Amino acid sequence: MPRIQQQRNDAMSSITPNSSPLENGFLNEEEKLKLAGTSPYAVHHNGGGGDVMVLGTRETGSQPSTSKNSASSGGSDKKIRDPLDAEKLLPGMVQSYKSLIASVGEDPDRQGLKKTPERAAKALMFFTKGYEQKIEDVLNDAIFDEDHDEMVIVKDIEMFSLCEHHLVPFIGKVSIGYLPNKRLLGLSKVARIVEIYSRRLQVQERLTKQIALAMVEAISPMGVAVIVEATHMCMVMRGVQKLNSKTITSTMLGVFRDDPKTREEFLSLVRS
Ligand SMILES: [Zn+2]
Repeated sequence: MPRIQQQRNDAMSSITPNSSPLENGFLNEEEKLKLAGTSPYAVHHNGGGGDVMVLGTRETGSQPSTSKNSASSGGSDKKIRDPLDAEKLLPGMVQSYKSLIASVGEDPDRQGLKKTPERAAKALMFFTKGYEQKIEDVLNDAIFDEDHDEMVIVKDIEMFSLCEHHLVPFIGKVSIGYLPNKRLLGLSKVARIVEIYSRRLQVQERLTKQIALAMVEAISPMGVAVIVEATHMCMVMRGVQKLNSKTITSTMLGVFRDDPKTREEFLSLVRS
């Protein structure tokens, strides 16, 4: 994965998240509202090979909160599904898939479909494997103390997720930039964070934000920027969007939010 560094001279400020809004890997109610409220613009334009929808989620400054949810300590990302339970759940899922197949008008017992319920159930468990992992598990031994103050960018990480509204894939790439604060994260671990959150039932806006917050929690950088570009099969296959349509979401925290120069530098490096 390419690693791009660039010398920086700007004054820096550090982010001080008052509490992490992640609860069981999900945003709490307050954060959902905030997220909804900070997407004031959606740009939709034609041309250049497809539609692009841009949803901005630039963070507002951290404000004292009275919500009891956000008071949860550390907000660490708890594991939600035990792999052993997943095994036990399989027979029930197989039954469910059988009845789904019958519901669409097919015969679940015909030869080609006989093993489909079991395959589909296992596939769904794989697509949602992120529920069996928590961020702390992958960060072990991957955080390095280093006096490095240049922007680190990991670009075009492949991402496969499931839209929680239609249970249909959305597929794309993620670019992450951060300005270290004496701590670096192993580059492959950045991709692992993307994987853990994308292999769950998701909406793109939340996925974007969870990745950014996980980076903050892992290494407390001066700032984090996350951009997700994705094609949603639920939009494409239902004809709402064209095949090359992309939805772009971003979360900017710390210096990436506060300093336009840093933000611009990141954006131009990601686009190049
Ligand atoms: Zn959908």
